[in-house]
Amino acid sequence: MAALLSIENLDKRYAGGLHALKSVDLAIERGEIFALLGPNGAGKTTLINVICGIVTPSSGRVLVDGHDTVRDFRITRRHTGLVPQELYTDMFETVWDTVSFSRGLFGLKPDPAHIERVLRDLSLWEKRDNAIMTLSGGMKRRVLIAKALAHEPKLLFLDEPTAGVDVELRRDMWRLIEKLRETGVTIVLTTHYIEEAERMADRVGVIRRGEIIVVDETASLMKKLGRKHLSLHLQ
Ligand code: ATP
Repeated sequence: MAALLSIENLDKRYAGGLHALKSVDLAIERGEIFALLGPNGAGKTTLINVICGIVTPSSGRVLVDGHDTVRDFRITRRHTGLVPQELYTDMFETVWDTVSFSRGLFGLKPDPAHIERVLRDLSLWEKRDNAIMTLSGGMKRRVLIAKALAHEPKLLFLDEPTAGVDVELRRDMWRLIEKLRETGVTIVLTTHYIEEAERMADRVGVIRRGEIIVVDETASLMKKLGRKHLSLHLQ
């Protein structure tokens, strides 16, 4: 079966000439957790934004379940869910309204049973009538994940899900991501942390200055490069 996500010879140059992605080739299989590991400014967010149709590629193509992200924009948006790094959302809305509204943006019929399932999976059910501003930072992050899952995407992108959080919240997020995988969604996450990739991912890709320099199964990559050598690529 073809890969769920297929990236071919992808290039992105921003206005002003910055070459943020250089000939990126990558395939993501159904059901896997893939970690994109790289230092600041490596191109991780750019790659995710191109896949999710937020940033237009300069050349090359991205296929989500066989659909081109530029030509079949509406279909690929429907199949991808993005949890951005920043905690942006309307803080005055309730959890339920925020997540239901997000589903509506995709022109889908309301499906309270699905929203309930998502909120229960994320331990947000008891908080459904609370305004988002009353929630803890960890819970706010969960709301962003619930929003991204409201339209039942096949692929979920988590852009640095544990950036700036303490160790306990980080472990919490790891457990949550593992639980989400059991619901059948394929997960791509970006991170600066080797231990996060090691703990979570079936495979890891290392990106540096816009180039994917290695892709491998996590265990095999750790064996070949070792943590110390790998950490050199993250500086
Ligand atoms: P971080 O880990 O710091 O979030 P990243 O790996 O996600 O970094 P990107 O945010 O994709 O990296 O940035 C890659 C490069 O592209 C950086 O040099 C960044 O300054 C540049 N860049 C990102 N967005 C734009 C933009 N809209 N216009 C011009 N340059 C941009």
